Amino acid sequence: MQLFDVDLLVIGGGSGGVRAARMAAQRGARVLLAEAGGTAGLGGTCVNVGCIPKKLYSYAAHYGEAFHEARGFGWEGPAPRLNWRKLKTNRRAEIARLNGVYQKLLVGAGVRLVNGFARLVDAHTADIEVWQDGACSIERVRARQLLIAVGGQPHVPDFPGRELVITSNEIFDLEPFPQRLLIVGGGYIACEFASIFNGLGAQVTQFYRGAQVLRGFDEDIRQFVAAEMRKTGIALQLNTEVTAIERTAQGLAVRSAGGAVLMVDAVLYATGRVPLVAGLGLEQAGVAQGPDGAVRVDERYATNVPSIFAVGDVTSRVQLTPVALGEAMVVVDQLFGPAPGRAARSMSYDFIPTAVFTQPSIGTVGFSEAQAREKFGAVTLYRSEFKALRHTLSGSSERTLMKLIVDDASDRVVGLHMVGAEAGEIVQGFAVAMKAGATKALFDATIGIHPTSAEEFVTMREPWIRPG
Ligand code: FAD
Ligand code: NDP
Repeated sequence: MQLFDVDLLVIGGGSGGVRAARMAAQRGARVLLAEAGGTAGLGGTCVNVGCIPKKLYSYAAHYGEAFHEARGFGWEGPAPRLNWRKLKTNRRAEIARLNGVYQKLLVGAGVRLVNGFARLVDAHTADIEVWQDGACSIERVRARQLLIAVGGQPHVPDFPGRELVITSNEIFDLEPFPQRLLIVGGGYIACEFASIFNGLGAQVTQFYRGAQVLRGFDEDIRQFVAAEMRKTGIALQLNTEVTAIERTAQGLAVRSAGGAVLMVDAVLYATGRVPLVAGLGLEQAGVAQGPDGAVRVDERYATNVPSIFAVGDVTSRVQLTPVALGEAMVVVDQLFGPAPGRAARSMSYDFIPTAVFTQPSIGTVGFSEAQAREKFGAVTLYRSEFKALRHTLSGSSERTLMKLIVDDASDRVVGLHMVGAEAGEIVQGFAVAMKAGATKALFDATIGIHPTSAEEFVTMREPWIRPG
């Protein structure tokens, strides 16, 4: 009698889970993947309600501005109007296509897919609740190893009127289009959706409780992007907190501390995400959790229960898709061996590049100035601010900022930050150089590509002294 039904049970078919399941099956492991959202949920947050639909809507938002700017280049005619319903329909179709691609990849690799919510029973057992034709049945699975990859969900604080707000899960299908939108928060999601809906034509107000948005990013980048976002028309209000929201005949009345009332059609709360662990049975299986419910893991992504591993957002570390993918691959290499001819993968959290798809966008890799000063002591700054060539004719007043932070002792570039068009595309390439330990001398010896904005990163010669 076989002791285990499968070698690996993966709970959650998002970025981390899909990657782990597919790679483990390719190594010959018997793998079962349980996804609560069914095949329509395959791909998880990123594919269904995160990175992908967000980026598609970001492209949509850019077209509005592009049509406007095209006039400076000689294009004439009436400006087209957004068909919100069509955008939603086309997005839905693309996401469904991607769900299908994921399903095909998994099944093709030999993964058994089960559409259902999984609950841990003990160190090797989980029950999967499967709904079919209105009836629920439980499939019990005994697995040699289990991987928890259940991700997270939006967190909305408690206040009177909380039930009237939406989160990033609902924004993509909002009906009707919100002509007046309030966004609460100052992180990635709040800033990105402020730019997206502003670009799509909504009147956007953003409330952030602190002194400047995007806490943790380089201070110059935060100031610069906030100013640019305001220039595009976003009414960004800092040090502002919502105290209550009420539904009225004119829309949602949002009261903030100080007594001001703002009337809007919809309120998006983007106030962080928490691990999606309710009902998962972590306590029953004895899996240790952190204060916010996150599954605690060691450097091998093992929990305190030796047969149970966890990756991705549920561990509340770096909440990015490529990080979840990287972690998943480390677990698979560890459990089932590396791909033929390859060394086992490891994961480093240094120099993880990231982009914020605001308008203009942010791209960043390495340390902020404050972090670099704390870690390295003496650093030299290089900074360039300019109007991109495109905007000499476009009529836009958008500006670009680029900043390098160099560790004086080693000459190594330890921080590279940008606000401007295609910042993510540009910074991805530089991230390789930074990871390889590139020095400022190496940046200086690199020939630029002309005319681009990116060439500025290899042509900044004079150190920047902060004025004042
Ligand atoms: P998820 O992708 O969340 O997948 C978890 C899956 O588990 C889900 O499908 C869920 O249905 C399933 N599940 C949960 N509980 C159970 C259960 N008990 N049984 C079975 N299945 C279960 N990251 C980037 O790198 N770039 C971006 O541009 C970006 N944009 C984002 C935009 C938004 C609006 C959001 C919300 C996130 C964005 N992220 C982005 C973050 C990224 O989406 C996450 O870091 C990533 O999806 C985490 O992957 P994961 O595998 O940990 O979890
Ligand atoms: P973030 O943690 O980035 O930001 C949360 C924001 O909400 C912060 O500004 C925080 O303020 C504020 N906040 C928290 N609690 C409250 C409260 N009670 N009242 C008012 N404001 C509050 O989370 P997001 O939800 O924006 O995104 C989650 C994660 O998803 C990101 O951290 C990122 O890792 C990932 N993501 C990545 C993207 C990308 O790669 N482009 C895009 C979108 C998401 P404060 O700073 O003061 O704590």
